[in-house]
Amino acid sequence: MTSTLAVERGLAPAAVVLRAVLAHGPLARDALAELTGISPAGVSRHCAGLAGLGLLTARPAAQPPDRRAGRPRTEVDIAADRHAVFGVHIAHHFATLAALDLRGRVLASERVPHPGGEPERILAGTAARLREFRRRHQRGRTAAGLGVASGGWVDPDTGVLVEHSSLGWYDVPAGPILAELSGLPTRVDGHARALASAEAMFGAARGCGSLAHLFVGNVVDAAIVSGGRLCRGPGSAAGTVAHLPLGAPGTRCSCGRSGCFEADAAEWAVTARAGRESIVEVVEAAGSGDPVALDVLLGRARTTGRAAALLFDVVNPEVLVVAEPGIASLPACLDAVRAEVSARSRGRVDAASRVLPTSFPGGDLLGVAAGAVQLDALYTDPHAFLG
Ligand SMILES: [Zn+2]
Repeated sequence: MTSTLAVERGLAPAAVVLRAVLAHGPLARDALAELTGISPAGVSRHCAGLAGLGLLTARPAAQPPDRRAGRPRTEVDIAADRHAVFGVHIAHHFATLAALDLRGRVLASERVPHPGGEPERILAGTAARLREFRRRHQRGRTAAGLGVASGGWVDPDTGVLVEHSSLGWYDVPAGPILAELSGLPTRVDGHARALASAEAMFGAARGCGSLAHLFVGNVVDAAIVSGGRLCRGPGSAAGTVAHLPLGAPGTRCSCGRSGCFEADAAEWAVTARAGRESIVEVVEAAGSGDPVALDVLLGRARTTGRAAALLFDVVNPEVLVVAEPGIASLPACLDAVRAEVSARSRGRVDAASRVLPTSFPGGDLLGVAAGAVQLDALYTDPHAFLG
């Protein structure tokens, strides 16, 4: 089966081959030709080119026990140990630094607290920590660029964080600043879109032509992939679900209205409601049977479920992935989202199979988001990226 995602995106043949190996490898070249619809000669040529860039590697295939004659078969696989992609995720109180291999696996990550203040000062401090992080974790790999992700409204064409309300950042050129300070080719995107492409490349939505992704943290964002492409719209403003009227009607929002999704479901609001210091504490307490913590997280899951039902009705994605720590670790919270989708979606969605928790739970989520910004570029146009 050809990858729907690759075909619908109109990718160059080399990228189709590379994505097929990522999704289904290791693979023999004849299997790759069948999978991609590219001629065997074409597949061999692209594999050689991609091997030359250090992106693919060939190795002897495991031989079936009764196979005695013929040439030994080789399979191609992603050369996961040659390059490292670096990531910087910018959040409310801290930045996350990460190094990823080409399969999106986090090799190392580190959290850098920032006390607030001028964005330029925070970015300069983060870049200094990144230099030190690279010295410790690059370990002979070639640096294949820097991905930067954050919540809120991010414009990847200009690298500008247009609006991050909880940080109070408006029109901050984070991409150009970090590119100059790090010396690395740098790309920036919203973390909801980055996580949607990570799910499509390395996660549960591998091979899906359409998916929706909901990120519920201190900011609340959606990302939509349709026809294999991320929906961005003018200024990359698509996916702004923070102020949809899905929350409790009396909850005041920073936008001046009340009842907004983000005001109701933001991490700070949930943590305060549960009387805890952090969302990690809330999830741990709920997991240990604390009824207040569990009730707060179930409420957040139901609000998230209302947003998910709406996305199913409007966009009808094959799958919808939710990144929220309660839903990622407590079955009752996942059930609550699915129940809300089943009850509210008009499209008779089979929520059990189509609503999925994030493939990157725990501490890796933010680092994966940041690295995926750069990895998506690499897997979209490998020759332009490294050639
Ligand atoms: Zn609002």
